[in-house]
Amino acid sequence: MRTKVTFTPAALLFAAAAALAQQAPIARPLQTMPYSPSLDVTSLDKSVDPCTDFYKYSCGGWMKSNPIPADQSGWSVYGKLTDENQQFLWGILDADAKAANRTPIQQKIGDYFAACMDTSAIDKRGAAPLQPQLAAISALPDRKALIAYLGPLSHTAVGSFFFESGSTQDPGDSNQVIAEIGAGGLGLPDRDYYVKTDAKSEETRQKYLAYVAQLLVLSGEPTAQATQDAASILRIETALAKASLTRVERRDPYKQYHKMTLAELTAVNPAVPWPAYLAAQNAPAVTTLNVAQPDFQKAVAATLATEQLDALKAYLRFHVINGAAPSLSAPFETASFEFFGHYLRGTKQLPPRWKRCVRQVDHNLGEALGQEFVHRTFAADTKQKTTLMTDQIEQAMQDEIEHLDWMSPETRKEAVRKLHAVRNKIGYPDTWRDYTKLTVKPGDYFGNTLRAASFEAARDWAKVDKPVDRNEWGMTPPTVNAYYNPQMNDINFPAGVLQPPLYDPRLDDAPNYGNTGSTIGHELTHGFDDEGRQFDGQGNLKDWWTKDDAKNFEDRINCLRDQFATYVIVDDIHINSKLTSGEDVADLGGTLIAYIAWQKSIENKRLQPIDGFTPDQRFFIGFAQWSCENTREENNRLRAVTDPHSPAFARINGIVTNLPQFSTAFGCKAGQPMVKAQVCKVW
Ligand SMILES: [Zn+2]
Repeated sequence: MRTKVTFTPAALLFAAAAALAQQAPIARPLQTMPYSPSLDVTSLDKSVDPCTDFYKYSCGGWMKSNPIPADQSGWSVYGKLTDENQQFLWGILDADAKAANRTPIQQKIGDYFAACMDTSAIDKRGAAPLQPQLAAISALPDRKALIAYLGPLSHTAVGSFFFESGSTQDPGDSNQVIAEIGAGGLGLPDRDYYVKTDAKSEETRQKYLAYVAQLLVLSGEPTAQATQDAASILRIETALAKASLTRVERRDPYKQYHKMTLAELTAVNPAVPWPAYLAAQNAPAVTTLNVAQPDFQKAVAATLATEQLDALKAYLRFHVINGAAPSLSAPFETASFEFFGHYLRGTKQLPPRWKRCVRQVDHNLGEALGQEFVHRTFAADTKQKTTLMTDQIEQAMQDEIEHLDWMSPETRKEAVRKLHAVRNKIGYPDTWRDYTKLTVKPGDYFGNTLRAASFEAARDWAKVDKPVDRNEWGMTPPTVNAYYNPQMNDINFPAGVLQPPLYDPRLDDAPNYGNTGSTIGHELTHGFDDEGRQFDGQGNLKDWWTKDDAKNFEDRINCLRDQFATYVIVDDIHINSKLTSGEDVADLGGTLIAYIAWQKSIENKRLQPIDGFTPDQRFFIGFAQWSCENTREENNRLRAVTDPHSPAFARINGIVTNLPQFSTAFGCKAGQPMVKAQVCKVW
C-alpha cells in the first residue's frame, strides 16, 4: 500500500486525509477537478541543499504553503487530492440527491447522501435508533443467551464483538474462499495501547475509560453505573489485547494460518456454539475454516466463561454504541470525534458534514459512486499510458531479477514466473458490484447504515466455500491510494490515484515515472517483500526460495531495517523498522525499477532540461513530491504504533541515500548526508 491504512469506522471518518483548509475559501461542490502539476517548482525549498536533506529541498515550499487544516490530523499531497476528489464527489451526490428520473444507482447514492446531510432529523431521533439493539442486549437472560446473540449481532450491527469473522482467501489454496475467525473486539487502535506502561499510554487508557463511560451515559445509563461498566470493559479488552498478536507478528502469514475443523475450533474455544454462529451468518455448511489466532480464541473462551453477565452485557452495549456513534446525533458523533479524532490524532475540529457524508457513501456504496466518478474523470488515454508504464516497469524488474548475482537460478526462475503472473488492475473493476439487494430509504440515515452493514456482511459470507473472484477490488475507484494483494498476486491502481499531481498527462515523462512509476514499482516489489515473498505466483502460501537465497534476501532487508531504525518520529520514538520493513523494501525496490524503466524508455531521446532541472533531477523531484506532508504530533504517535509506512522524510531521504543515481544527478559528494558509504540494495 502506498499510504496509510484506516482501521475502524471512527478512524475511517476522522483519520482519512482531506479538507476544508482553515485558511482556504469555503469548500463547495466541484464540477471539475482542479489541476496542480506532478513536478511543482513552487513546492521546492531552494535554500536547502538537496544533498543535505532531499525531502526538505523537494517539499519545503509545499510544507510552508500547506498548513494542516483544522479538520485534519495531517495534510499531504495525497490528502489534498483526496479532499479535491471528495469535493468532486459532493457535486455528483448533490445532483443525484435532487435529480428527477434517476437511475437505480443514482437513487441509492443520492438518497443515502441526502439522509446523511439531514442533521436536524438525525439529531431529533437522538439515541432512539440504538434502542432496539440495546434492549435486546438487556433482555438476554443468561450467559448462554448472550453468547448465542453474538451470531446475529455480528451480522447486523456495526462494530467488533469479542472477535472478527468473515470470509478469506485460503492461504493454502488461493483459488478457494474459506471462512475465518480472527482477532478483534478492541476499542483502541492497537493491542499495544492496552499493555504499554509508559505515562502517555496510562493517560490514553484514562481518557478511553472516560470516553467509554460518556457513550454509555449518552445512551441512557446512570453515571455511576457507566463508570463501573467502563472499568469492566477495559478489563475485558485488556485480556483480549494481551492474547492478540502484535502488528510485527502479524506480518508473518504462517502465524495467522491455522486451518481447523469445527470440532478443532470448538476444542480451542468451547464457549461459542460454532454451528449456530455460522448458521446466523448464512454459512451453515462450513466444516473447515481458518482460525487466525488460536491463542486469542482461548482468551475469548476464558472471558466469556469467567466474566460476570453484567460485564459482558456492558461490553456488548458499548461496542454497539461505539460502532454506531458516527451515524447518530451530534452528541454521540462529537464524543467519538473528541476521542478518536482530537485526542488520539490531534485533529482540531470535526470535518464538515458534507465530507463525512461523502465518506459514508464511498464506504458503503463505493462501487456505485465509483461508476459516476470514473465516467467523469478517467480518460481512456490515461488507462493506456499507465498500463504501458506498468508493462515497462515489470520488464525492468524482470531484467533486474535475471541479473541478480546472489540469487540461485531456481529461485530466479520462480521469481520471474511470479512476476509474469501478476495481474495489473488499473482504474476500476471490470464488473461493478451489484447493490440491488441494498435498500436505501430517504430520510432514514441510521437504518441505511445498518442495512449497508448487513448487506456487506451477507456479501462477504456469501463468498465462503466458493472459488475466488479475481476481479474483486479492495479499494473504491475514487480512492487516492494503491495496493498489492499477495494472495491475489495483483496490483490495484484506482482511478483516484491516477490524476495530477500524481499522474500528470500534461507534463514530461520524468516526474511521472518518478512519481506514479515509483508507486507501480512499489506495489510490484511488495510481491517480494518480507511478507509477499512467502506467497507464490498463484497466491499460495508456499516457500519457493532456496535456504541460501532466503537468507541473502533477509540480510538485504536487515540492511534497511538497521538504517530506518535510526530515524526518530517524535520525542525518543524511533521508527519500528520491523513493522515498516515491507514498505521500506517496496519504496527502495520500486524507485529503482521505475528509474531503470524510465531510462530505457528514453534511450533514443535527447531530453533537454526543463525549468533548470535535468531529466534525472526531474525524475527524483517527481519521486519526492508525491510524499510532501505535514503531520500533527499526536498523529505521529499513533502512526508510530499502527502504520507500517515510515514517515515521509524517511521514505524519501532513506531511499535516495541508497541510490547512487541520485547522487550523480545532483552532484552529491561522499560525506554529505544524502550519500551513504555503504548502500542497501533490494535488487
Ligand atoms: Zn506499500
